[in-house]
Amino acid sequence: TIGKIFDLTVEKYPNKEALYDVKKNLRFTFKEWSLEVNKLANAFLLEGVKKGDIVSTYLFNTEELATVFFACAKIGAIFNPINFRLMSEEVAYILTDAQPKIVIYEKMLEAGICPITTRFPQTSFLAIDGDVPSYAASYKEKVSAAPISELKTEIHEDDVYAIMYTSGTTGRPKGVVHRHREMVEQSLICISATKLDKNDNGLVIAPMFHCAELHVAFLPRVHVGAKSTILHHFDPKIVLQLINDEKITKFFAAPTMWNMLLQENLEVYQLESLKLGLYGAAPMAPTLVKACREKLGIQLVQAYGMTEMGPAISFLTEDDQIRKAGSAGQACLNHEIRIVRPREDGPSEPNDIVPIGESGEIIVKGPCMMSGYYNRTEATKNALYRGWYYSGDIGYLDDEGYLWVKDRVDDMIISGGENIYPREVEDVLYTHSGVLDVAVIGQPDDQWGETVTAFVVKKDQSLSEKDLDDCCKNSMELANYKRPRKYIFCDVLPRNASGKIQKFMLRKQLEELF
Ligand code: AMP
Ligand code: MG
Repeated sequence: TIGKIFDLTVEKYPNKEALYDVKKNLRFTFKEWSLEVNKLANAFLLEGVKKGDIVSTYLFNTEELATVFFACAKIGAIFNPINFRLMSEEVAYILTDAQPKIVIYEKMLEAGICPITTRFPQTSFLAIDGDVPSYAASYKEKVSAAPISELKTEIHEDDVYAIMYTSGTTGRPKGVVHRHREMVEQSLICISATKLDKNDNGLVIAPMFHCAELHVAFLPRVHVGAKSTILHHFDPKIVLQLINDEKITKFFAAPTMWNMLLQENLEVYQLESLKLGLYGAAPMAPTLVKACREKLGIQLVQAYGMTEMGPAISFLTEDDQIRKAGSAGQACLNHEIRIVRPREDGPSEPNDIVPIGESGEIIVKGPCMMSGYYNRTEATKNALYRGWYYSGDIGYLDDEGYLWVKDRVDDMIISGGENIYPREVEDVLYTHSGVLDVAVIGQPDDQWGETVTAFVVKKDQSLSEKDLDDCCKNSMELANYKRPRKYIFCDVLPRNASGKIQKFMLRKQLEELF
């Protein structure tokens, strides 16, 4: 169980530094942190939290989020980290679905909590900082009043450990239910893929509520006894300074974050400690990967996956970054990936495999697979079929067994009867040096069904539509019908917290414009 791997690390490395919360300027050894975890777990018990009850967090990256994570695990409470970007009604949607016993939040996010508390009379709200409003109680006071005493709840590897709501680039978020065993397996797989050991120094910059950071980077570090420096929220200059000061060796960042790091003046920092960077959770253009390797001089590993699978299902390792640029790599240990005929009204049969090199829906099987969506029998039936998870992503396997992810089933553009994957167009536009960020979507069109439209954020202000059109025309990787017929320049692209572009918002914007 998650609680057990925590205890084993504490026993092995009591005096090793475990956490550094930059905002609070607070450092914990594993022993000190374990006392915090124990007190919080006891505070939960005093609040009446029982095994199977849900505890939600609505926090930026903080020591508290990490502490709640393990305190829940040790008493069998279900950990439910809520996306800090969500607004009050979105939070209310999740609280209505999950009915947590406790919600732990921070002052900076009060606006998301304050308007909705009266709707959840069964829930206690705990504020970790600031003046405590009348609808809440103080987290600090609860913890300091709690005893340090042995936790006796029996927890089994098949008990539910967390419910994580998917970022939902479409539709309402669904709660992904994971058990302890699945996350211990995921952690082992990620330890091996990132060659992690106790001497590593990690940096938490991507949101901890999302499994890409929490399960692929953070949990593995605790598992092996490595240190985590926690940055409250992303700021490229602070990230570089922290790498410099804390001698960071490995960290995960979403593609947008890597892009922003590269825009900084890298010369003024000492970055030699860096060994390995993880990227993933959203597509990253090969040009950007190349720039990271060259300018930061680090090894890169890509993780591809989804919350439902824990999340990682494949890795592209450092030695394949050039030879297989653009691929999502090979299946993780103990995982099996197949490409099946694209779904029509429902999932295709898992043995309805398409030939090598042909695109279809990516399906996967492995030890970290969710047990289902919370309160969603229908959606669960659609996603888990005959022991496989149906990802809704389109991709293909090449003759060496490498996975190439093309796009979401729902984002595919059909123009004049031809399928166009926005990602292939985006990857070409990214090669233009005047482009900072780009997103491609289909625009409804009477003649063609859909036409290709590109939203572009300029790096170089002189960049014109013609420059981009020439770039596409000169590319050997883009058929004529895939060329954008319209360019829209904008200041920023809407992204969710894990770095995925919210294409539904761009579609809405297009509707309003034309
Ligand atoms: P989530 O469950 O919120 O993490 O979203 C999972 C989705 O993110 C996947 O189904 C993919 O569409 C996308 N995704 C995750 N990792 C990658 C990656 N390395 N490359 C491309 N898309 C990715
Ligand atoms: Mg998803």
